[in-house]
Amino acid sequence: MCTEANPFRLSVIDQQMTNDLSKRPTVAPPEGLLLNRRDWTCLVLAAPVASWYAVNEAHAANSVTEERARVVVVGAGISGLGAARSLVDQHGFRGARQVIVLEAADRIGGRIQTSVQRGLPLDLGAQWIHGSKGNPITELARRARLETRVTNIERQRVWQPSGVAISNTQIERSVRTFQQNINLVKLRAGRTAADASIEELWQRYVPKVRDQRDQDLAEWQKFWNIEAETAASCRQVSAKSYDEDEAFEGDELVLPKGYGGVPGFLERGLDIRKSQPVQSILVTPSVGKKPGSVTVVTPSRRFVADACIVTLPLGVLKAGQVKFAPELPAAHTAAITSLGLGRFYKLFLEFSADVFPSGIMVAGLLAAKPGEQVYFLNANWLLPRRVVCMMAVGDEADRLEKQAEVTTVELALKQLKLMFGSSVGKPVTVVASNWMSNNFSLGAYSFWQVDSGPATSEVLQRPAHQRLFFAGEHVSSEYPGSVHGAYLSGIAAADAVKDLLTV
Ligand SMILES: Cc1cc2nc3c(=O)[nH]c(=O)nc-3n(C[C@H](O)[C@H](O)[C@H](O)COP(=O)(O)OP(=O)(O)OC[C@H]3O[C@@H](n4cnc5c(N)ncnc54)[C@H](O)[C@@H]3O)c2cc1C
Repeated sequence: MCTEANPFRLSVIDQQMTNDLSKRPTVAPPEGLLLNRRDWTCLVLAAPVASWYAVNEAHAANSVTEERARVVVVGAGISGLGAARSLVDQHGFRGARQVIVLEAADRIGGRIQTSVQRGLPLDLGAQWIHGSKGNPITELARRARLETRVTNIERQRVWQPSGVAISNTQIERSVRTFQQNINLVKLRAGRTAADASIEELWQRYVPKVRDQRDQDLAEWQKFWNIEAETAASCRQVSAKSYDEDEAFEGDELVLPKGYGGVPGFLERGLDIRKSQPVQSILVTPSVGKKPGSVTVVTPSRRFVADACIVTLPLGVLKAGQVKFAPELPAAHTAAITSLGLGRFYKLFLEFSADVFPSGIMVAGLLAAKPGEQVYFLNANWLLPRRVVCMMAVGDEADRLEKQAEVTTVELALKQLKLMFGSSVGKPVTVVASNWMSNNFSLGAYSFWQVDSGPATSEVLQRPAHQRLFFAGEHVSSEYPGSVHGAYLSGIAAADAVKDLLTV
């Protein structure tokens, strides 16, 4: 029987199932499962129907080995590694079978991925330490003795769709106009109870401009300041929550030898199991004096722990790839649904001759059609090589990632030639990211879409079923969508686990 201590609330349909035991499928606890029959019954009674079937199937298909650990961390991205490091170094969970990190991929780092091509380190995911002052990633890079370099992405140049360069004076004017307009949108957003998208309020309140070039530049500023940052369209971004996150001050730093050095520094000495995609996570409630546990199931193993830190990316959580039993609390599920999932595509091109004139960091050819804007980054910090990175966000990122790479390279070359002249040659190296089609990310990073905001992320900071703790960039209400936000959320989850297990 489940005791009063059972923390799970049953939905109506589950209660119906519970009341009419005859209609419940007759399934015995899977062989070798650590739960005894009473615990299993308790779990079955508590688990929502769908999860119950899924978990049962997963177990039935497994002839699995079982391992015990105090804490299991799911995911070896920066948040998972930060959490595990903190448990081991700060909270004394040292030694064998204390902390095990389970990673689906055959590498660590998650959305920090340095692909080394002919000695050239290309960051397919995170590239910048945003704001060097007080940023914990600056400190990690220093401790790991990783070289960093200051960049200035405000050194940019913009061209009309025909290839005619726009003067710096016009660009500076468009920056000032953008500031006024976005302030107006924020002001209007603050005056109404209901949320709306930035685009909706922009169309309603920002004075229309007649001049086509001014209009194009206004679109560029929206793209550059909002969409390139959130990896989402202004039609989706919440006007109320936009810019409600925090930022560190100081320089924008890159790591010329690759961001991968940061997770590489954190992983040292940790018990990380790669190629272990987690399929299901089962929480067994405390029964009487017997404390509860968490069972984390992969295709080949089952890990039983006192607590679990889940750092699955938002895209993976949204897709329901990992089954939870009992299902996650309704507030957690609602938060996962409400948060927006940004999309980001990068195409690195190495040339044998210079493409960008010196002094320019970012170049953009104004899009001929709405929604097709991309930009180019002069990645001249990458060894003494000539590397350009084309970046796209939102629907355009999806489109470019899906279409044949050769077509995307043609598009990039066409735009580069319009901006820098026909002398732009063929690239000698081409490497593209695939964050949206990668099953272990299924998107780039979270953003606050209409009707979500810091409070939505805060929901995910609460434990679920006492023993499940969440971390990851999407859990950060201060620094969402960033490496530092993800890392700090991992530290916070480790603190919470320590509080639970050392009381
Ligand atoms: C293109 C791009 C550019 C970016 N640029 C920057 C930048 O310049 N600066 C910045 O600060 N941030 C940037 N970000 C954001 C930053 O990369 C992320 O916020 C951060 O790395 C996320 O860390 P995380 O630990 O939350 O998630 P992840 O790094 O995604 O870690 C989660 C881990 O879980 C694993 N996993 C998934 N499914 C399973 C499963 N079933 N079982 C076990 N493991 C699983 C994944 O493989 C992954 O390793 C960028 C992101 C992208 C995509």
